[in-house]
Amino acid sequence: MAEWNYEILWKETMNQMKGELNEQEFAMWFNLEYLSATEQEIAIAVPSSFYKDQVKQRYQGYIENKLTELMGKEVSVSFEVKPKNQNDDKILSGSSEKNYQKTEKKDVSEKPKTAEKPNHPQLRKDYIFDFYVIGDNNSFASNAALAIGRNPGTAYNPFLIYGGVGLGKTHLMQAIGNYVYDNSNMKVIYITAESFTNEFIQAIRDNQTAAFKNKYRFVDVLLIDDIHFLQKKLETQEELFHTFNALYDANKQMVFTCDRPVSELKNLSDRLRSRFERGLNVDLQPPSYETRFAILKKKIEVENVHIPDEVVALVSKNVSTNIRDLEAALTKLIAYAKLVGKPITVETAQQQLKDVFASPRQTNMSLEIIQRVVAEYFSLSVNDLKSKKKTQNIVFPRQLSMYITREITEYSTTEVGQAFGGRDHTTVMHACQKIEDKIRSDPTLDSTIQSLIRMIKEYNAKS
Ligand code: ADP
Ligand code: MG
Repeated sequence: MAEWNYEILWKETMNQMKGELNEQEFAMWFNLEYLSATEQEIAIAVPSSFYKDQVKQRYQGYIENKLTELMGKEVSVSFEVKPKNQNDDKILSGSSEKNYQKTEKKDVSEKPKTAEKPNHPQLRKDYIFDFYVIGDNNSFASNAALAIGRNPGTAYNPFLIYGGVGLGKTHLMQAIGNYVYDNSNMKVIYITAESFTNEFIQAIRDNQTAAFKNKYRFVDVLLIDDIHFLQKKLETQEELFHTFNALYDANKQMVFTCDRPVSELKNLSDRLRSRFERGLNVDLQPPSYETRFAILKKKIEVENVHIPDEVVALVSKNVSTNIRDLEAALTKLIAYAKLVGKPITVETAQQQLKDVFASPRQTNMSLEIIQRVVAEYFSLSVNDLKSKKKTQNIVFPRQLSMYITREITEYSTTEVGQAFGGRDHTTVMHACQKIEDKIRSDPTLDSTIQSLIRMIKEYNAKS
């Protein structure tokens, strides 16, 4: 077997495929690294199991044909999941300071980035792809983001990431910005929709709208965070609409984030809505247990502290809402460990985090409570609400509880649908619409809802 150097063979195969596929496609799906080989099989690393499934389905045959063609004999490929972030010891090994250099092959590690270019004024330097753990909840979004970082403005324009709080939207968006900023001379602007709005208002006041327009219409990559803030801001929407068109026509990349699907935004002009929906819209889901575990391990590695795996497992199990909460729990533990100068054990973790673990948002508690309170109010059972029954005495309370859930929790329509007997998110959207319509025609309904919400909150506070 020694006559073939499989690693070089793999490089050549990649080169050839790169020449054959379109750039975007290659950037997105050929994040494949050589691992090892036997006579008949080459093992390739892929960043996540989602990615693996996709690559297998789309490209395995193609890759094998290419290899066979090059070698003149049959060779197969196998894929192994190796989340990049977890295995790249080079970047994280043992240093207690955060090392913000990139993992790209170009060996950027030898020259500190700061020596070449000042940090980008609006981007956090730790919001980079290397620190973003790819899990099943975000693999599509992060692969698309990486592809966009590599080729801004070529496809997926705009790119819109949506999902609940703390799920990694800002991090991913800024990772695109950082990537472009570090690897090119393109002009990148990051701004929240709120600051964009304020700046615009100020510009009007100061008679500086021309300068404002110039600032945002001559960038290569425009990142606007949390566009749900634009609801009801009609003039700012108008301005953004024109900015959008100018950038779109010039093939400049736009990235937006939003806390819900664009279709669920209210008080947004139709033409702006259709622009947002034009490119690629992807959602971030709450992370699975495995992903939560991987994220914690990653942070621990970066912090260079010692926390036993049982503790990591305990936190991953108990903090399931989002990544921000997960980080907060970890920070609390680390602070405690530093303070008392003792290693963290399962007991100390349990003790230190008991409030966090008990907080209602940590489990599906509030959702269950909503169901329980509403069911009780209408003399039904929770199972009725989750059931397929379509009688009016059940349909209405069911729609009402979905509506209330959307009003007072961060759950996405998908999650709410799940909790109500595995219904589709469109059903939830429809339910909310129905209730909104009813509130308009029946003013007493709103006060019923308000008193239900009060009961739910009281109940929640007690449990
Ligand atoms: P959002 O904008 O959706 O509210 P953020 O991007 O602010 O969420 O993420 C919250 C925190 O969680 C940040 O500190 C971020 O670095 C971290 N985080 C989110 N997703 C990941 C991930 N996949 N891997 C590592 N850290 C993550
Ligand atoms: Mg954010």
